[in-house]
Amino acid sequence: MTTHPVTIVGAGLAGLTCATYLHRANIPFRLIDAADAVGGRVRTDSVEGFTLDRGFQVLLTAYPECQALLDYDALNLQPFYDGALVRTHGHFHRIADPFRHPFDAPRTLFAPVGTLADKLRVARMRSALTAQSINEIFSQPEQPTRQVLATRWGFSDLMIDRFFRPFFGGIFFDTELQASSRLFEFLFKMFAEGDTTVPAQGMQAIPNQLAAQLPSSSIDLNTQVAALENNQVRFDDGTSAPASAIVIATDAPAAHNLLGDETISTKQRSTTCLYYAAPESPLDDPILALNGDQDGLLNNVAVMSDVAPSYAPDGETLISAVVVGDPLEDDDALERTVRRELIDWFGLPAGGWTHLRTYRIEHALPDQTPPSVRHDANMVRHHDGVYVCGDYLRTASINDAMGTGRMAAEAIRTDRSVPA
Ligand SMILES: Cc1cc2nc3c(=O)[nH]c(=O)nc-3n(C[C@H](O)[C@H](O)[C@H](O)COP(=O)(O)OP(=O)(O)OC[C@H]3O[C@@H](n4cnc5c(N)ncnc54)[C@H](O)[C@@H]3O)c2cc1C
Repeated sequence: MTTHPVTIVGAGLAGLTCATYLHRANIPFRLIDAADAVGGRVRTDSVEGFTLDRGFQVLLTAYPECQALLDYDALNLQPFYDGALVRTHGHFHRIADPFRHPFDAPRTLFAPVGTLADKLRVARMRSALTAQSINEIFSQPEQPTRQVLATRWGFSDLMIDRFFRPFFGGIFFDTELQASSRLFEFLFKMFAEGDTTVPAQGMQAIPNQLAAQLPSSSIDLNTQVAALENNQVRFDDGTSAPASAIVIATDAPAAHNLLGDETISTKQRSTTCLYYAAPESPLDDPILALNGDQDGLLNNVAVMSDVAPSYAPDGETLISAVVVGDPLEDDDALERTVRRELIDWFGLPAGGWTHLRTYRIEHALPDQTPPSVRHDANMVRHHDGVYVCGDYLRTASINDAMGTGRMAAEAIRTDRSVPA
């Protein structure tokens, strides 16, 4: 067998997971990333004592790939309230998970966010999806989420527009809900079966935990791969390195370019996240507030320091405000518009909040309009000696970035007949 390492291009969660499983199988690897730290799209900045994730994001503890690999206790996960506040016509209405917050069930049932029958349909969908395995969900015919909500599950337009559109539209970065029903049903199951959390030290604690278990000499940062050439990768400085196998663990546009593979879609979804510091929280619970009306730019707001007090210095409050897409306004104009809407939502004190930073994430997620969520163990084998992993292959989620990373490592192990 060749002595060259497996070269993994991309140290996001897919590449880190692939490296972790190769390391466990004693298969030498070299993990390369163009960025200055591991994590890919899961990065966190420290700004004036505040912990700012690069775009609002959460870890669902039910994700099986995370359960298999992450030490949740060490991450010190901080949970959100299981539900949301839906703002419509100037009022907030609480939509709770009645199985976890039974005392909030009556307000949920009578909130003007969908009909009473819709609330019962949520319970029916919850028990159906928690009874199904993830493989069963991925085997269902794929349709746009909006269509499946109306036809498979029978929800009214009111319920879809006031609740599912801002909640899942803010997850898919697609408020038309065109994303795959497999993605929706998988995520709904995950929300129902576990907690919605952030690590106390920010989302980047997740990739950092994975990287800490790998030999540091196997990770090369600030190293851009320019091309693949036979059994080696060529770097942008013109040098190259031989590899026994290559794993392309990049985002979809980079994989498309490096592999010259037109079948990998480069269509992406964008999001913009603005962070504010405030003297006190405008909400009573660590809960996500959603825009249930189809107007304005804001999609959702969370008081991050109510969820994880460590996200803000003592006596301060950190608020994230999310706009789906990449608005045309420049940053100053966008901030003024968002602040006007925040004042509308939370009153005049929002006018005094300090704007900390705006993150525009153009390539946030792959577009997941069907057909997109694959269900095929072989999808990680690209061509002879070249493997792929990354969120665009299955669901655009932390779980499937990691899941496809594991599958790529398993494929390499199998192809070399290395025992598990
Ligand atoms: C704002 C935001 C919010 C999100 N919210 C959630 C959420 O709440 N829950 C959830 O489950 N998921 C969420 N996601 C999705 C999740 O973060 C991603 O699906 C996952 O992190 C993708 O990991 P990946 O390893 O596939 O790709 P990436 O993280 O994109 O990693 C690819 C890596 O490849 C490197 N690379 C690319 N080209 C080259 C090259 N030529 N040479 C060297 N290196 C290269 C990049 O620098 C990058 O580090 C969110 C994503 C974003 C952006």
